[in-house]
Amino acid sequence: MKNVTLAIDADGIALVTWDMPGRSMNVLDEASIRDYGAAIDEVCSNDAIKGVVVTSAKKDFIAGADLAMLGGWSAKVAGLSAVEAAKQIFGWTMSLQTMLRKLETCGKPVASAVPGTALGGGFEVVLATHHRVVAANDRAQLGLPEVKVGLMPGAGGTQRVVRMLGVMAAAPLLMEGKSLAPAEALKAGLVQQIVPPGEIVEAAKAWVKANIAEGERYRAAKASGDKKATASFLPAWDQPKYKLPGGGPQTPTGFPVFMGGGAMIRKNSYGLYDAPQAILSAVYEGVQVPFDAALKIETGYFTKLVLSPQSKNMIRSLFVSKQALEKGAHRPHDVPDMSVKKLGVLGGGGFMGAGIANVAAGAGIEVVVLDQTEEGAAKAKAHAEKEAMGRVAKGRMTEAKAKELLDRITTTSDYSKLAGCDLVVEAVFEHPDVKRQVIEASEKYLPETAVFASNTSTIPISDLAERSKRPERFIGIHFFSPVEKMPLVEIIKGRKTGDEALAKALDFVRQMKKTPIVVNDARFFYANRCVLRYIEEAHYMLAEGVKPALIENAARMIGMPVGPLALNDETALDLGVKIAKTTKAALGAAYKEHPAEARIEDMVVRLGRLGRKASKGFYEYPERGADGKSNGKKRLWPGLAELFPLAPVQPDVEELKTRFLTVQAVEAVRALADGVVEDVREVDVGAIFGWGFAPWTGGPISYIDTLGPGRFLADCDRLAAKFGDRYAAPALLRDIAAKGETFYRRFAGEAEDQAA
Ligand code: NAD
Repeated sequence: MKNVTLAIDADGIALVTWDMPGRSMNVLDEASIRDYGAAIDEVCSNDAIKGVVVTSAKKDFIAGADLAMLGGWSAKVAGLSAVEAAKQIFGWTMSLQTMLRKLETCGKPVASAVPGTALGGGFEVVLATHHRVVAANDRAQLGLPEVKVGLMPGAGGTQRVVRMLGVMAAAPLLMEGKSLAPAEALKAGLVQQIVPPGEIVEAAKAWVKANIAEGERYRAAKASGDKKATASFLPAWDQPKYKLPGGGPQTPTGFPVFMGGGAMIRKNSYGLYDAPQAILSAVYEGVQVPFDAALKIETGYFTKLVLSPQSKNMIRSLFVSKQALEKGAHRPHDVPDMSVKKLGVLGGGGFMGAGIANVAAGAGIEVVVLDQTEEGAAKAKAHAEKEAMGRVAKGRMTEAKAKELLDRITTTSDYSKLAGCDLVVEAVFEHPDVKRQVIEASEKYLPETAVFASNTSTIPISDLAERSKRPERFIGIHFFSPVEKMPLVEIIKGRKTGDEALAKALDFVRQMKKTPIVVNDARFFYANRCVLRYIEEAHYMLAEGVKPALIENAARMIGMPVGPLALNDETALDLGVKIAKTTKAALGAAYKEHPAEARIEDMVVRLGRLGRKASKGFYEYPERGADGKSNGKKRLWPGLAELFPLAPVQPDVEELKTRFLTVQAVEAVRALADGVVEDVREVDVGAIFGWGFAPWTGGPISYIDTLGPGRFLADCDRLAAKFGDRYAAPALLRDIAAKGETFYRRFAGEAEDQAA
């Protein structure tokens, strides 16, 4: 056994240790599952073994199933009929289920000693032990996040969690993939003990030792033919008279929960995602049958998901590609580690700067925050303190760690304090003159080797680099707001940006645990260029007289997290007006006025409807209370009906949905065709994590490939004829469609196309 070791101590307790060679994290892959199976066979059959502790020699337990293995499964069954393919995957999945069940029912007490994170299949291994001891580790995450990549737990997770907690309490874990800190897992009843990090194995062994006699008694009773024999350490569902907490679907208390669950899925995701529905079905059917049958039901639904294009697309973008980009797919290989030690944030007291400073300090980086005044800079520290205290209150951070984080931030208005910074990110006002001034002022004090980055949203990086003495060490690092929450960072290469600057930016993003995409310098870069199309399409619809609520709902119905009008309110209507003005100035006669433009300008200038920040925009926002929280819900502003009179006949919602998907996806193809983004994985990952493009699709390129480029082209042609050039298909799309290819085949060399 290469991946799992087994050692028996003087008490007859077997210590089964996951320790995959050459990896920082354990994962469930074919080899490690086989090795764990061999260990289970040994502990169950060896009479000298009286009890078992399962642990990991890494700092974490098991990160989850190796999703590449699932991809490999799909490839292995590619040539088979649908039924044969399903049978194969069902069989492979059931073999893990059977193994875990064998350990759970072997009659020997089994404890897990979990040093850190255990997710997905890794947490399912933990759940299939009788007693769960977790280290007091505030970094550790325990949970079943499969749903987030379009999958579901397939190693008993749905059935065990629901039987432990009941449907209501299990729902956020299973259907939203919410993970828990150890203290939360203890409170929920998913783990039994939290002990200091170095003591997990000892504590687990103590529990096993205390249960050895009970195990021996139970096994002897069973061997003598006592069918009713039971042991106190066996899971609740293997005890006589087990009842599901909260009741099953056929009980008066359980019935409404299941009814509500189905309704909730539709409300939250408009039935777009297969996985939550499959999970609910597996739970609904599973809790009505004995446990071993329930595992088969779970495996059936899991198999269905593994074979669906939706989960393949989601796994590819949300996991495989995302991880490849995070690991530096576009990092120049010959540049040594450029991790940031001391960061300068210019304009650090502002909205974006304070967020950047906070996240960087949280990642262990020393941060010098500079703003126009000392008081201005101090706002960054106040912001970081508020955020940290919020996390302390939720038990997600210790006070000591919060203090360390805050101690890493120093604030100043004195440029000489930037000496020694190896990276500077500027987030000052969006004006070329202000940017120029801070570039020049800081370069006086920065070491020659330092990299200068701009967080600008609209000013070309190559233009800003002209202001620098070292344009090869100048780059764009574009964060999204709010910085703490938004996972994507666009790295923008200027014309002269060199490899070291690129490596520095990528290493910095990796330190901040965010996802990078590398783009070339162009107007609005990549994400903003596409999201503007989304918002602008809603403006077209308003001008056509489409009901505002229909616009918002159609967008939500394709899986956009926020309707375009609500999003426009968040980003501010005056910003849109300002962008339109600068675009007009830049394009001159080539500028085409939007049919809603004058009316939106009127909303801003005459009516002061600036959006969320003014509590009025396309929506009306309820007053905020003294605690800063608003009471009540926002609602669409009724005055819109006057500015944008409704058309007597409203369009079909399906048409609106297609328009929203198409207008964004075709812009993404244009960005690829123009060379702004060069890697289809970045087009997809950037879309989902940058502006929330319908995650169920796996991103715009996956959407087009799965729909079929030919069908997508037909949508573009039809919509362009009816609504205009913004739908016009780029030559690249026509070419791929004409040759019967897919984007992933052409750009990523994928052999197997997923077009339906
Ligand atoms: P902000 O107005 O909240 O903050 C700007 C900060 O810069 C202020 O604290 C200001 O005092 C400081 N500042 C101005 N001139 C300065 C100078 N000469 N020296 C030192 N400090 C100075 O602005 P923001 O929204 O945080 O945007 C900052 C930058 O980030 C802009 O380039 C913007 O385009 C970009 N950006 C903004 C967002 C967003 O959603 N707000 C998103 C991505 C990028």
